Amino acid sequence: MIMSTIAYNLQAVDASIDAAVKACGRARDEVLLLAVSKTFPADAVLEAIAAGQTAFGENYLQEALDKIAAVSAVLPQRQIAWHFIGPIQSNKTRPIAASFDWVHTVERLKIAERLSEQRPADSAPLNICIQVNISGEASKSGVSPADLPELARRVALLPRLRLRGLMAIPEPEPDAARQRAAFARLRALYQALRADGIALDTLSMGMSADMNAAIAEGATIVRIGTAIFGARTYQPQ
Ligand SMILES: *Cc1c(COP(=O)(O)O)cnc(C)c1O
Repeated sequence: MIMSTIAYNLQAVDASIDAAVKACGRARDEVLLLAVSKTFPADAVLEAIAAGQTAFGENYLQEALDKIAAVSAVLPQRQIAWHFIGPIQSNKTRPIAASFDWVHTVERLKIAERLSEQRPADSAPLNICIQVNISGEASKSGVSPADLPELARRVALLPRLRLRGLMAIPEPEPDAARQRAAFARLRALYQALRADGIALDTLSMGMSADMNAAIAEGATIVRIGTAIFGARTYQPQ
């Protein structure tokens, strides 16, 4: 049988996840593969779906909404989970609340309140991860570790959201031990919130270049783009 490149890549990434979980004594079903399809067309998503992939991550709202509509038109009955993983502008929360199942990039209470207010009544609560800045001044995105506990307590109380966990994008770092150290900081923050009684089950961390380190530090969602769809050649505005 001839496999498409995307199907082949998905199988290879799955095998890498399998090896990484085994290496640290975890179970394969503890780690969800989120296929990051930003900049790739709906046809690429359909190819991944045909290969069995069901969860997709998108960063750019308009591109994502067009793609979700195109995929739903071809496969109206298929249950696909769409995760928003890009920066959120406060005037764009309504379509995010209406069209996505997860949002990984909440870093301010105002955004969380709007998502909760705007989540349609006939949809399940929107799954939320709070994005944390674990790289200090090197990164502008994410709540600081110091401000995280207060934000988490407040987000957990919003009625139409379900706070699931934490997300981070550490600074690119080639050294595996340093990759692990950054992910270990996110894991420690996650464990501290759980110890304080906030029910979390999700650590969204790890991309194509640092997935193994993230899994070793407890990732439950890895967000993989390049290793599945290939190199991105443009950056939408
Ligand atoms: C683009 C992106 C990814 C995927 O990155 P790759 O290096 O292509 O695997 C993961 N997470 C976020 C937040 C992204 O923006």
